[in-house]
Amino acid sequence: MPLDDCDTHSEVPLQSLPVAAAIVDRDGRVLAANPAAAALFGAAQAADLTGTPWTDLVVGPSGEEPTGEWPGVLAGRPDQAREAMLKRTEGGYRHVAIDAAPVPSGEAVLLVLRDITAQRLTEQRFTRSQAFANIGTWDWNTQTGELFWSERIASLFGYGPGERETTYANFLNAVHPDDRQRVVDAVNACIENGSAYNLEHRVVWPDGSVRWVLERGDVVRNAEGRPLNMLGVVQDITERKRQEAALELAGKVIENTPEGVLVTDARLNIISVNHAFISTTGYSELEVLGHKPSILASGRHGADFYQMMWQSLRDSGQWQGEIWNRRKNGDIYPEWLNISAIRDETGAVTHYAGIFSDLSTQEHVRKRLHRLAYYDLLTDLPNRDLFRDRLANAVSRSRRLDRGVGLIFLGLDRFKTVNDSLGHSAGDELLKAVAERLVECMGESDTIARLGGDEFTVVLGDIAAPTDVAQAARKILQAFRAPNLVEGHEIYVGASIGISVFPGDGDTPEELIRNAEAAMYKAKEQGRNDYRFYTADMGTRSAERLVLESELRKAIERNELSLAFQPQVDLKTGRICGVEALARWHNARLGRVRPDLFIEAAETTGVIAELGRWVLDAALRTLSRWHQAGFSSLRMAVNISGHQLLSGCLVDEVQGALARHGVPAASLELELTESVLMENAERTVRLLERLQALGLSLAVDDFGTGYSSLAYLKRFDVDKLKIDKSFVRDIPGNNSDAEIAATVIAMGHKLGLRIVAEGVETPEQLRFLAEQGCDQIQGYLFSPPVEAPALLELLEKQTELELPA
Ligand code: C2E
Ligand code: CA
Ligand code: CA
Repeated sequence: MPLDDCDTHSEVPLQSLPVAAAIVDRDGRVLAANPAAAALFGAAQAADLTGTPWTDLVVGPSGEEPTGEWPGVLAGRPDQAREAMLKRTEGGYRHVAIDAAPVPSGEAVLLVLRDITAQRLTEQRFTRSQAFANIGTWDWNTQTGELFWSERIASLFGYGPGERETTYANFLNAVHPDDRQRVVDAVNACIENGSAYNLEHRVVWPDGSVRWVLERGDVVRNAEGRPLNMLGVVQDITERKRQEAALELAGKVIENTPEGVLVTDARLNIISVNHAFISTTGYSELEVLGHKPSILASGRHGADFYQMMWQSLRDSGQWQGEIWNRRKNGDIYPEWLNISAIRDETGAVTHYAGIFSDLSTQEHVRKRLHRLAYYDLLTDLPNRDLFRDRLANAVSRSRRLDRGVGLIFLGLDRFKTVNDSLGHSAGDELLKAVAERLVECMGESDTIARLGGDEFTVVLGDIAAPTDVAQAARKILQAFRAPNLVEGHEIYVGASIGISVFPGDGDTPEELIRNAEAAMYKAKEQGRNDYRFYTADMGTRSAERLVLESELRKAIERNELSLAFQPQVDLKTGRICGVEALARWHNARLGRVRPDLFIEAAETTGVIAELGRWVLDAALRTLSRWHQAGFSSLRMAVNISGHQLLSGCLVDEVQGALARHGVPAASLELELTESVLMENAERTVRLLERLQALGLSLAVDDFGTGYSSLAYLKRFDVDKLKIDKSFVRDIPGNNSDAEIAATVIAMGHKLGLRIVAEGVETPEQLRFLAEQGCDQIQGYLFSPPVEAPALLELLEKQTELELPA
């Protein structure tokens, strides 16, 4: 045999072999290879392989050490189809099957290499996909009854490898009892008619857990058509079933929810709607699928509305709001619509889901309308209309049952001050807090209503006696003693309460309301923060007020006004250092009218300008007489209302009065309330500067009721603070009042102010105030406001105030 190459060891015509081949010597070195083998290895030429140990060129089929020597082959026993993986020169592997045979000399081995890479990869892919898909295979010889199942099947049935004998009985045993008959029927039908089956059934694991499998079986027949054996696969579909169940449930929920649902694809084509959608819009599923939701547009919203909707969907993936849509029959209706963008893992929008409720028919709209009509939006309490209804019901009920109805009419004290000094939002907050407090302290069955402004009412049905109502009123007043936290401020707000009772104080709701209101004004007049029962002599406020206003206009010319004077005592000397002038009005028709009442009326009617001028003039005339009588260091305090201050002529008037009566400006002190200062801060600062330039001094009246801070007051450059009598009243028993008074004194002193406490009635109050370093006191303890002659007498006697030790 001629040799194609010069390799003396080769006795095989390698080059002519149509397959890849190589010759390896006893030590496993490559003696020769043909071009097909070189190509298989990716080598440039066959010669590149010669001399290389075979073990460097290949690895075992699963990556293990390869066979490099063939003693058996050399001894004459050929080796067939041994698998190996061949390392390619440029990297990577080829699967090969190797047939080995000795060369005729018996000194070397001929290897024939078959490339089986494609086959192996397919197989691997298949096994891998089987494992991934949880597919197991079985094979059942129906003649012999022999059954084979793969390990995967065992694990699908919850059996460990080899744990159970592979029998049909053991297979059936694993099938869920409820599904067993179906499985048996399918298998039998398959054997009998050759119909392949495809069945989903459950298996029960030995631990009791249930899983779902998909089982496919088919039959293999012999030439005569007799069934030989059955083959099948089993696949775990538990997860898919679970998802299906969840989807089915979700589907049912969506289908049955009363809210309309529509789903679109990313391009806004409707792909699904539910039952409520159909019944709300009147469109059938077929009529809307594939259409855009704009099919429902009512034309009521402008382009900007939809732009905002889309902006929100882009920004947050959400939009919700009220939108008007059109039904198929043309009706326009409001719906509350919630749209969500649904995104895939990459964040791209795949769908939009809209969920809406038809507001025109829905209960909550009726409720909303009802709320709007019958409830106060701010406090959520019944409004005047609902309150009136409830009161009417309570009245007619108590007529039948012979019981009483109590009506509490509550007005907040100085609510206007809060509004003016802290602003309307604070005022609103306070009203809400008050409403909550009322609800807290009254029973569930009592109707609490807000009539508007700062007026609240409580209807007490089924009362046995008026004292029940008084008790409730006291409870409310008690509850009002705690401060309200409003925008960070602790605000104390008092209440004045008027009470009317059915039967007795009126037959109709209107009468009861009017009378309770009149009683409330009475409570306000008589010092606030208290309750009053209606009495027949109260009349109605408005009538009384009209009379009062018309009488007041004539008061000055009729000479009905007078002044009372209340001494202020210096706590260091125990002597009278000043007096406050307080206006008095005695009218022929109305009798003595309380100052708060007529001052307020004077303010609203504009009479205050004239009244103020009169007071200033009369006070300074009196003071000049006292100065002449020898009390030349006495100072006169005059109250100035906001209107007077802002009228613009106050400076001139004061200057004129001082000059007229020859009183030094230093003897005059003007009292301005805190709220007057706060309300008009800018203008006030300038006016006060001009007043001070005259040489008089300024006092802040009612300090503590206007919620201004001491620091804020600094800008007004006043000389004196008068601690409001409401803080003095409960000293020293009430800790918070005592604390406020003490703080005002300490802080006021820091700011260089003198402090006067007004309304001092008891020695205890005096002692406390003196201890805190208060400069002056004014109050009934020393003297009530008295007429000029009586005050002169006080000055002359000048009995020193006995300071408690
Ligand atoms: P005000 O300026 O706070 O005057 C002090 C009020 O407290 C006076 O009430 C006085 O009688 C009262 N009072 C004095 N000592 C005590 C006490 O120990 N206990 C209690 N409970 N009260 C005491 P009056 O005279 O009824 O005046 C009420 C308000 O009318 C004054 O409060 C003031 O705001 C206003 N007013 C009175 N006269 C004038 C005036 O000429 N012009 C202006 N603009 N307002 C005036
Ligand atoms: Ca005063
Ligand atoms: Ca005061």
